[in-house]
Amino acid sequence: MAKDLALTGALVVDGTGGHPRENATIVLRDGRIASVGGLVPPADAEVIDLEGKTLLPGLIDAHVHLSSLGGIPQELRTYGLANAMRDLLKGGITTVRDLGAYGDSLQRLRDAARHGLCEAPRLVLCGQVISATCAGARAFPGMYREANGVTDIRSAVREQVAAGADVIKVMSTGALTVAGEDINPAQLTREELVALVEEAHRLGLPVASHAEGADGIQLSVEAGADTIEHGEQGHLVPEALAAMAEHGTILVPTLSVFDHVAESDAYPAWMRDRGRRLGESARLTVEAARKQGVAIAMGADAPPQGGNAQELVRLADAGLTPLEALAAATGVAARACRVDRQVGTVEPGKVADLIVVDGNPLTDLTILTDPRRLWLVLQGATVTARCGALVS
Ligand SMILES: [Zn+2]
Repeated sequence: MAKDLALTGALVVDGTGGHPRENATIVLRDGRIASVGGLVPPADAEVIDLEGKTLLPGLIDAHVHLSSLGGIPQELRTYGLANAMRDLLKGGITTVRDLGAYGDSLQRLRDAARHGLCEAPRLVLCGQVISATCAGARAFPGMYREANGVTDIRSAVREQVAAGADVIKVMSTGALTVAGEDINPAQLTREELVALVEEAHRLGLPVASHAEGADGIQLSVEAGADTIEHGEQGHLVPEALAAMAEHGTILVPTLSVFDHVAESDAYPAWMRDRGRRLGESARLTVEAARKQGVAIAMGADAPPQGGNAQELVRLADAGLTPLEALAAATGVAARACRVDRQVGTVEPGKVADLIVVDGNPLTDLTILTDPRRLWLVLQGATVTARCGALVS
């Protein structure tokens, strides 16, 4: 049996949003966290001194699109994906939730990682996005499963489950990046959305609802969606935010994608302007949601993979305290991804997916966006990256 690993002397931000703990000793055993806080490490443990460093749960991005690989040719996409996985790990991202993929490439990737054929973060997958007949399905061919009417909607949910989905993603409204779509009105009827949530929940899966406009947000919350993706018009419907706080519905504001669209030459001027306007709206919603007590999770929804922690800096700029931003990227994101029984906090029994950074992110969150300051990345107590380079 492998020796215990004792991590000593670090400032520990445990991902619960609670106060950091100074000079704690974390003991790792059999891939998991065995204890937190005892000052004297076990006699035969291997000890790593982390004085001057901060230990946190591995970062979790609750909204990515891993198979959107930009200019990589079709026949090289497998290599592109494997490379993206390495970039994520080097960036301290140890869990991602993919909310819309082309074909079954990610299920295959997850299988490959399980067989030890490539490195990858923990993958939480939705497969295809379920939507009404819409322009988005033409803009992203292969990523959507269009469904109309209650019976077809239920079939679409079952297809995703059969293909290995962990979560059901639905387009409740149009998308910022689709030319032929607007974010109001909602794209699905109440009846359709209720049926989708009911079928997903019946089969044991949560629902992530892409809801940008006020109508879709309201409808998604009422239908019982578990996470609201983007949600930028949430500040216009305070009653929906209140209901989210009451039911524990998590908001994933994806501020990075609005900035990405606003700043990228790849989009037409009018769409960049739409990105700018909706990004401002998203920031108002972060502020309003925080005041109402809505849980907020990190999801970048924008390239580059590995630079995901930029989202956490943006969340802090939008009003979250550094401690809240770190919880958004760990404990709350783990809840959003339904992996909170395994990871997301530094607590005994959890899988030891952890990162160690040089310095204190509570005084400077941008440390987390610099791979060279990411001193260690551990997956299941095994070091997978050190100072921006993979260890293998
Ligand atoms: Zn997305």
